[in-house]
Amino acid sequence: MSNVPVAVVTGSNKGIGFAIVRALCKQFPGDVYLTARDPGRGQEAVAKLQEEGLHALFHQLDIDDLQSIRALRDFLKEKYGGLNVLVNNAGIAFKVHDTTPFAVQAEVTLKTNFFGTRNVCTELLPLVKPYGKVVNVSSMVSSSALGGCSQQLQQKFRSDTITEDELVDLMTKFVEDTKKSVHEKEGWPNTAYGVSKIGVTVLSRIQARMLNEKRKGDHILLNACCPGWVRTDMAGPKATKSPDEGAETPVYLALLPSDADGPHGQFVSNKTVRTW
Ligand code: NAP
Repeated sequence: MSNVPVAVVTGSNKGIGFAIVRALCKQFPGDVYLTARDPGRGQEAVAKLQEEGLHALFHQLDIDDLQSIRALRDFLKEKYGGLNVLVNNAGIAFKVHDTTPFAVQAEVTLKTNFFGTRNVCTELLPLVKPYGKVVNVSSMVSSSALGGCSQQLQQKFRSDTITEDELVDLMTKFVEDTKKSVHEKEGWPNTAYGVSKIGVTVLSRIQARMLNEKRKGDHILLNACCPGWVRTDMAGPKATKSPDEGAETPVYLALLPSDADGPHGQFVSNKTVRTW
């Protein structure tokens, strides 16, 4: 088994994830895994970094596929005995003018952004080694979507005692409510992406709390963040930040020094903790 530190970035064949891998290749003292659901796109991205003189390793990972997540888990367990840095970056968003029915958009978006990210955490968090870092890429849209929720929902999502099961029930309810066209009546905002990212931010707060309760001595720091508005296939060419600039906050959180006791369980943008 290798003692080399290891970092894994989900959805990193392009966009912000690719830029996070690029930065980690330069700054992380260990093996960096670029992962992608499509091995061809993943290997191509690794080759692109190679041309820049950077050495990333590749492993397949489709966060919608539990088998794929478990294959990565088993690989990391066997080769490294765990992992040191996990960046949950993979995500999707329908374009504003997409005519796919809202209920379908809700189901598909929540499936990857919330349920897929949660499955990765369920399988990989137990493997994170002491002094490890976990970064869940959320969005400022989670904050604005929270503001668009009913007072009752806002109270639940801001609660310091909400459980992961309760959060899963709420995310499932959103999808069900969209199918019955009652989501607005039930207090939800009209944004599937926004609700999925509320899920990612709240999940991060819960997971950090669980780490405090169950693994306090391990000094693991886990946060959600927003990369900013970044020029990628998702956000388009008018966005204000380059992918490398978008990678800055996630990489800052992934590389917090071992003597740092925070941020932890926070929502961070521009390297600054934001009020949730
Ligand atoms: P992007 O260019 O569209 O890249 C998304 C990445 O996620 C791609 O590598 C994609 O792979 C991958 N992915 C999607 N579904 C996946 C799955 N099921 N399993 C594994 N990988 C999957 O988007 P981006 O702008 O870089 O976004 C990265 C993250 O930042 C997302 O979580 C996004 O919500 C968040 N974010 C972005 C912005 C922004 O302004 N761009 C702002 C706030 C937050 P394929 O190539 O195979 O599709």
